[in-house]
Amino acid sequence: MTQTAAPPQPGLETPLQFLRGVGPHRAAQLEKKGLRTVEDALFFLPLRHEDRTRLTPLRALQPGHTATCAGTIVGLSPPPPGRTRQPFTVMLRDESGHATASWFGWRYLARALKRGQRLVLHGRVARYKGTIVLQQPDWEIVEGGEDERLHTGRLVPVYSLTEGLPQRALRSLMWRVVEQFADHAPEVLPDAVRSRCRLIGLGEALRGGHFPQTESAQASARRRLAFDDFLLLQLGLAILRSRTTRARGLSLNPRGDLVGRLRAALPYHLTAAQERVWNEIRQDMAAPHPMHRLLQGDVGSGKTVVAALAVLTAVEAGYQAAVMAPTEILAEQHLMTFRQLLEPLGVRVSLLTSALKPRERAAARAALAAGDAGCAVGTHALVQESVVYRRLGLAVVDEQHRFGVEQRARLRGKGEHPDLLVMTATPIPRTLALTLYGDLDVSVIDELPPARRPVVTVARSEAKRRAIYTFIDEQVAVGRQAYVVCPLVEESEALDLKAATDMARRLAEDVFPHLTVGLLHGRLGVEDKEATMRRFKANEIHILVSTTVIEVGIDVPNASVMLVEHAERFGLSQLHQLRGRVGRGPWKSYCILLTGGRLTEDARRRIEAMAASNDGFKIAEVDLELRGPGEFFGTRQSGLPEFRVADLVRDAPVLEEARREAMAIVAADAELRAPAHRALRAQLLARWRGKLALAVAG
Ligand code: ADP
Ligand code: MG
Repeated sequence: MTQTAAPPQPGLETPLQFLRGVGPHRAAQLEKKGLRTVEDALFFLPLRHEDRTRLTPLRALQPGHTATCAGTIVGLSPPPPGRTRQPFTVMLRDESGHATASWFGWRYLARALKRGQRLVLHGRVARYKGTIVLQQPDWEIVEGGEDERLHTGRLVPVYSLTEGLPQRALRSLMWRVVEQFADHAPEVLPDAVRSRCRLIGLGEALRGGHFPQTESAQASARRRLAFDDFLLLQLGLAILRSRTTRARGLSLNPRGDLVGRLRAALPYHLTAAQERVWNEIRQDMAAPHPMHRLLQGDVGSGKTVVAALAVLTAVEAGYQAAVMAPTEILAEQHLMTFRQLLEPLGVRVSLLTSALKPRERAAARAALAAGDAGCAVGTHALVQESVVYRRLGLAVVDEQHRFGVEQRARLRGKGEHPDLLVMTATPIPRTLALTLYGDLDVSVIDELPPARRPVVTVARSEAKRRAIYTFIDEQVAVGRQAYVVCPLVEESEALDLKAATDMARRLAEDVFPHLTVGLLHGRLGVEDKEATMRRFKANEIHILVSTTVIEVGIDVPNASVMLVEHAERFGLSQLHQLRGRVGRGPWKSYCILLTGGRLTEDARRRIEAMAASNDGFKIAEVDLELRGPGEFFGTRQSGLPEFRVADLVRDAPVLEEARREAMAIVAADAELRAPAHRALRAQLLARWRGKLALAVAG
């Protein structure tokens, strides 16, 4: 490149409003889409591209098809005065013949279109009163100039829109932005990575991402841009991970007396998978660096007892452990389980949630600060700033998917590099696991305790309700118990509650007057909830009606039936979690998915997936496919990072590649100090600093 005195280029941070043709009104609309600067626009890739490359001769237009064609305007017929509801019609001619195009809402067209102009059109073809008509087609006047055939006759980008922002206008703006700025986007990838992974340059990728010449150019562009997104995140995670493994932490390596005593007291042997995983955890805890491990395992695989062994190890080493759950009810469930396992060994377990009365809460805090309680079980309340531990050595976070990387960091900050064990019962597809937990080591319990039989899952319609009740009756008669989960009533806890209350009353009075029916919902006080759960566990309640509060964590091995009302309203992972409440004992168990009315396509696929497989990982893959990563966890606070371009489903193969590169880069240059990595480092700090708690010094 020759260094002539080129005028300074406006940079990528230029507000879009400064571009020609973008007024304050348009700028406000763009801002609603998160598009403020040129850079925002460059990385705002279209939802998809439409292939409008092949021109169909007018003669060959077929009613019922969608086509792209071109012709010269030979006649214009606006509707008669006063008939504004009628379409505006244009006659076109090409070498092969004639056709018409018609539009409603034509005021602008009447001004823009003139006889003799050449048009390219894309739209649906119909026959109307004997003539061939393109109805409401996209159109473009062909007159040379740089944005010739922007909207037709090519792979046309289709963008996500917002109220009042027309596709054409956005597309034209994008064209100008890309033409003017794409080549000025600074390259961040080291050449070595680019050539190793065969990635195109950034400028080319931005052009191809918006206005590709061919499908393969589009694919290469997308791959390159997704790679950048993934690489940055994976670099951040790899750096965190390498810092953890290098940091000094606690070495919790007691003789193991407490662990031995718990093992001896268990009515079963650990499975081989539990043993393996426990061994990994034990070694991590003993090592003089902080443990940072994810424990994955399907519902019922026995993660809790493994966590209890870890807690005992911390306690025997003279430290405290905190067990954090995402909901009050799960925290209470854990409290019961951990008390049962630990208190016989003399370990005091205390509960800390925000639902506690002030006095109880103060007492729980005092016990932690004084070190009287060896184990604290609770919710987010455990990591509030004002909570102090005397010597926190181990943090166990259950159902981690509801916590993000940040909360994890906060919990770790509660001690001097305590060990961290993250447990999740929602099997997570690999792509998501790498994204959310890329900074953790992973242990998987891939085996269920013996004599577990897969839960028989069936879908039934309302017509079978009586038969289902008869079946539940029979199950209770032979000693089993049943759950009835009430439908989600969208966005209203009050309605949820009413549905569950009505259901419980109907079952108790009309259907099972000879049985005991209990009711569990989120509005019950702590003591009522605990009492109900205790009675269900003791088989004093035969049928437990509940809202979705039992989704995770409840453990009553004697229950053999899970009846889900309006199963079509539940997400796939929720259904799988619910199903995981049964099949915990040696008995054959059943999950009955009751559906009402006509199912949507997605609902049908969810129900089918449930009936087809008991494997949580398979279910999770289908779930991710159906819902997309953003919705996968059913909550915005999932801790999922926002990518500019990358999509965890669509671009999954790129993720693996980017992760490998990130690990290699960090292995060679832990803090990205080498000149070739400087640009990456700068981007990383700009994009992920807050999220990843990357306090990179100077
Ligand atoms: P998870 O938390 O992984 O969903 P839990 O820890 O709640 O699973 O365990 C489910 C049930 O299996 C509990 O009743 C537990 O006592 C029992 N369990 C755990 N490990 C074993 C084992 N190795 N053999 C038999 N039962 C086990
Ligand atoms: Mg559990």
